[in-house]
Amino acid sequence: MVEICTDINSVRLRYAAEQLFAPVPVRWCQHKADLNHPEKAIFYATSETGFFVVPTSPRNWTDATFEYSAQPQDWNSRAIQATLDLDVFELTFYLLARVDEYLNPQSDNHGRVIPDGFIQQKWMGLDVAYLDEIRKRWLRHIGVEDVLVPQCALTIDVDSAFAFSHKGWKRALGGLGKDLLHFNLTNLQERLATWAGMKRDRFDTYDYLMDQSKTHQWDLTFFFLLSDFEGQNIGLSHHSAGLRLLIQRVQEAASVGIHPGYHNWNEDAERTVMEIQRLKDILGGKVQLSRQHFLRMRLPETYRLLSSLGIQQDFSMGMATDVGYRAGTSRPFLWFDYPQNTISALTVVPFWGMDSAIKRHKEWSPEEAKNRISLARQYIAEIGDWRMIWHNETVCDEREWAGWRAVFEQQFKSI
Ligand SMILES: [Zn+2]
Repeated sequence: MVEICTDINSVRLRYAAEQLFAPVPVRWCQHKADLNHPEKAIFYATSETGFFVVPTSPRNWTDATFEYSAQPQDWNSRAIQATLDLDVFELTFYLLARVDEYLNPQSDNHGRVIPDGFIQQKWMGLDVAYLDEIRKRWLRHIGVEDVLVPQCALTIDVDSAFAFSHKGWKRALGGLGKDLLHFNLTNLQERLATWAGMKRDRFDTYDYLMDQSKTHQWDLTFFFLLSDFEGQNIGLSHHSAGLRLLIQRVQEAASVGIHPGYHNWNEDAERTVMEIQRLKDILGGKVQLSRQHFLRMRLPETYRLLSSLGIQQDFSMGMATDVGYRAGTSRPFLWFDYPQNTISALTVVPFWGMDSAIKRHKEWSPEEAKNRISLARQYIAEIGDWRMIWHNETVCDEREWAGWRAVFEQQFKSI
């Protein structure tokens, strides 16, 4: 347990300290006399004195009415490296509440966050899990035992459950027609072989993924896209018997969440409600896990919507075009609604990187991707969690993804 002695009663301060040290609990005291272990306690903004003091920032950031108008200039690279001399609670709040994304909201034409303006870019970049490092350093500094057990997990987005199967006769004929029109003989051959049952559907990698999860004892979660077929929503119909059976089958060995589709913002709420209901009907139970298709999201709207629909964990906290730690941590944390100044019930589960980001945006070869994954895994192993985003189709090891199954498996290599 971490004991903190302070005069301040602020939801922001409580949030920051409790999220920073979790799963080690925090005990709050106003007076030194109430501390169980004053020799290990942290003193913050109080006239009481002790051995371990977190310096108080000059900003009144703990005040509900305080709004950042610019990034704090005093957090430069050197200050960050000497984190024992910083107001680490303010820093934690700033990163976890995603203040940068309100100060200077930047997104690409898909509505995905652009990390160029993040404060981490002024420090040592996005590869560093600042909060996980600070947490470890502070616990060691005050001599409190860490009970964190770092987690590794597989999270898979299913945009297109099958390449050729179970699509219904209309889309099947459409696909066939397209192959013929464009003389795409490779596709035509594969399509016919799949239909004839001579080849396994290229995107049907579910047994492989469930095997890997079992072998390495990593939790596995699938996020299924159940939007109407339109634009970027290219999934199978939620009526498809093949898709419904698949979801019910993987549910036996894995967790299943919703992958809310790519919608116009003004239709986002009603469509997300509908898609969650579709998954509920298929599962015959609650839907509590979610990740945004394309990672398209807006703060605070997306998280408020998901919360209101009973989602307990969102897995979209990362970047579509880069790798690293968007919120400065690899560990799950509660989402703080900065405009409303409240702690929500929604847990945000970060990821390090996504298959398409490392291949298409970083343009890493499979060999380079393996090296980068090894380094990132090594870096985080002692201080936090490991999660990536893969797709059922990107572990097929065929066509444009030939050679990438080995990259996927690099995650499991001993470090
Ligand atoms: Zn998707």
